[in-house]
Amino acid sequence: MTLSSTTPRPLIAGNWKMNGLSVALDEARAVAAALEAKPPAARVAIFPPATLLHRLSQAVEGAHLLTGGQDCHGKSSGAHTGDVSAEMIADAGGSLVICGHSERRTDHGETSAQVAGKAEAAAAAGLEPIVCVGETLETREAGQAVSFVVSQVRDSLPTSLAGKAFSVAYEPLWAIGTGRTASVDNIVEMHAAIRAELVSRFGEQGRTVLILYGGSVKPENAREILAAPEVGGALVGGASLKAKDFLAIIQAL
Ligand code: PEP
Repeated sequence: MTLSSTTPRPLIAGNWKMNGLSVALDEARAVAAALEAKPPAARVAIFPPATLLHRLSQAVEGAHLLTGGQDCHGKSSGAHTGDVSAEMIADAGGSLVICGHSERRTDHGETSAQVAGKAEAAAAAGLEPIVCVGETLETREAGQAVSFVVSQVRDSLPTSLAGKAFSVAYEPLWAIGTGRTASVDNIVEMHAAIRAELVSRFGEQGRTVLILYGGSVKPENAREILAAPEVGGALVGGASLKAKDFLAIIQAL
């Protein structure tokens, strides 16, 4: 997707991770129906497991609800058993893809260089990548959170994203799926550092790239987090699985 000259609307992204059988399509339909009745201030997207992407995309076609993949390979096709390419995600109806989620970096040893390759492949296939970064608790306690995350941003964003739509998601690992949320001060400090890196790397475009926060966002804390400076939306895991909770987060904007 090519970047528009206007500031993008915030993005609320629901990452279902490895959750969701056919019956979960009803949750997506419920989100789509509620957004139809009350159009959201944000763009909203659901990232189901690859097995549901095509059906979910068809189920919500024409609604105020985008869909995307949770990961893509850096190549468009080939001998890569079990992988899904960015072209396949687009073919299945997706318009975005998450690249470098910490669970991919941890469970599958993905490096920032590989993440950059995935983001490049995503943009080449016309998808909008959401590139994830975030520090461990150990790194934060060592006082190195900001320098670590800024170097992850530098190494995970390919230069070819210049002029293309993409966003960055800051997700401290210690806040993902733990019920623990970063303080607003932590979020503001980190998002400002990421913004400075984006501007230094991409110039004017870097000022409007969305920086999402992720890590135990839920209906109770969404309003405060989404109102913080430089927070352009949220990447939501657990709370995106139930339409009621996800809608409460969307409506917090
Ligand atoms: C995530 O999956 O990116 C995430 C932030 O999960 P949770 O909201 O469950 O912490």
